[in-house]
Amino acid sequence: MAGCRATLRRKRLKNLLQHKHRDYIELLGKKYPRIGLSKLAYLKMVYLTDSSGTDEMGWLGSVEVKEDAYYVIKDVFLFKQKVNSGSFLVDPADLAEFYLENSQTPEGIALVNSLCFICHVEPFGDVSFGSPHDRAIMERFRKNRKFFIQAIISKSRDVQFSIYNYEQGLSYRDVAWEIMENGDEELRKQIEKEVSSKVTHVKNINSKVICSKPTGRELTFMAGGD
Ligand SMILES: [Zn+2]
Repeated sequence: MAGCRATLRRKRLKNLLQHKHRDYIELLGKKYPRIGLSKLAYLKMVYLTDSSGTDEMGWLGSVEVKEDAYYVIKDVFLFKQKVNSGSFLVDPADLAEFYLENSQTPEGIALVNSLCFICHVEPFGDVSFGSPHDRAIMERFRKNRKFFIQAIISKSRDVQFSIYNYEQGLSYRDVAWEIMENGDEELRKQIEKEVSSKVTHVKNINSKVICSKPTGRELTFMAGGD
């Protein structure tokens, strides 16, 4: 019997495992794109979302591509549309009128050509990337553009950006975004001045005494000044 068991053990095959496959793309020599929203575009998007009520609503935006795949959304523009809780619809004549109006601005046709961003508020529906709804919107607006960006704002005001790069044949899902702040040099100088007048850098601090002991006078202010 012992010999029989040994034979069985010898015959047991050490199987090769099937590789658990998942799709993965590495961008060789390329950076994963990111999105910067100008303060103007961001605030307009906040207010447009506030004004959309409980229905869908869409708007287009102008995009400038910087180095390192940094896509700047400079401004956004509302077009005439019909909306309900499940869709937003643009009449072709209204869209033509929208492009015509924008082509007559100082930026002109360059502005129209830079309108590579479509955003819409999705109060109830499917916000998933690559859904038929998502694809239908891209086909409606992208025309012959080399890339197009779509953002969907959910009921909870969660914003998801996707970049479709038709030249590369790639789409980037849920791209990181930030609000671009140029900063205020005056304010920076003011703060630096305040810090250097109020903050002293020393070698050792007794961590048990974070503030020095109250002497009495400041307590009247701390209590509310009476
Ligand atoms: Zn929608």
